[in-house]
Amino acid sequence: MNADKLILDGTRVAKSINESLVKRINQLSVRGILPCLATILVGDDPSSETYVRMKSSACKRLGIDSRRIHLNKATTTEELIAVIQQLNEDPQVHGILLQHPVPHHIDERAAFEAIQIEKDVDGVTMLGFAQNAFGMASFPSCTPAAILAILDYYQIPIEGKHAVIVGRSPILGKPVSLMLLNRNATVTICHSKTNNLPLIIGLADIVVAAVGKPAFIQGAWIKEGAVVLDAGYNAGNIGDVDFDACHKKASAITPVPAGIGPVTIATLLKHTVLAAEKSKITT
Ligand code: NAP
Repeated sequence: MNADKLILDGTRVAKSINESLVKRINQLSVRGILPCLATILVGDDPSSETYVRMKSSACKRLGIDSRRIHLNKATTTEELIAVIQQLNEDPQVHGILLQHPVPHHIDERAAFEAIQIEKDVDGVTMLGFAQNAFGMASFPSCTPAAILAILDYYQIPIEGKHAVIVGRSPILGKPVSLMLLNRNATVTICHSKTNNLPLIIGLADIVVAAVGKPAFIQGAWIKEGAVVLDAGYNAGNIGDVDFDACHKKASAITPVPAGIGPVTIATLLKHTVLAAEKSKITT
């Protein structure tokens, strides 16, 4: 492994996670259990449609059942919650993923909270978040878990390092901050009201970009030798990091695409298999 300018290859990490699942899926099959992920898409946002399709295809490739529910964009919060409750009660469904974002008129938090904790494979509920904060979640949020999986796969030390997280969303910035804190990093969380962002990023050994703005993190802000993890995914396959400029300074960096994205999907599948293993019901 070339420690100099290492590209953190998410496809490779995802492959290794997927390979570890094959035997577990076979063992479940012997018990008469077919792991099943239900995805719910509300409306017709093309990016969301693509994400859901990618998740279903990944399920299919591994022999995991996927049930795709596509609801009209006029669906109300109550109607969406009713669908989630049906899936909660369905013993053949092990994981439920509500694709974010839902149309503005829907109370997304209420819908997330309707997902039963045992099926919250995407780690979106408040209980799941709290369990993650205590380091006790079965299903931490998938993208944060993917970031940790990449660091671990490449044996990048976390303990004692200064991690700067840019973004504080409940599905990404906050949970990844807590996971890195639980692994004994010293964590700084930045957001849109942070002063002197470049100065703070310049102190980081590990930078996590979770901003939602294309090529936002500049090479000039990065400390020589820092590890850069780009969770961003913007139109045109552009991350939240100016890759070329940051690559010159970083010791290791995730690309976009083929960085954190594929590992996020593999993590979702891993959580679905674990949910099926914990279930007592056979098909
Ligand atoms: P989000 O909910 O929009 O949160 C963005 C965060 O960035 C907010 O905390 C915001 O601060 C902060 N921010 C915005 N402008 C900033 C600025 N100028 N300086 C510093 N911080 C700023 O986004 P998200 O859902 O966390 O997603 C973030 C990115 O990750 C997006 O590109 C998304 O597509 C991507 N994503 C990727 C995956 C994957 O599988 N790879 C999964 C999920 C998300 P405030 O809190 O102050 O508003």
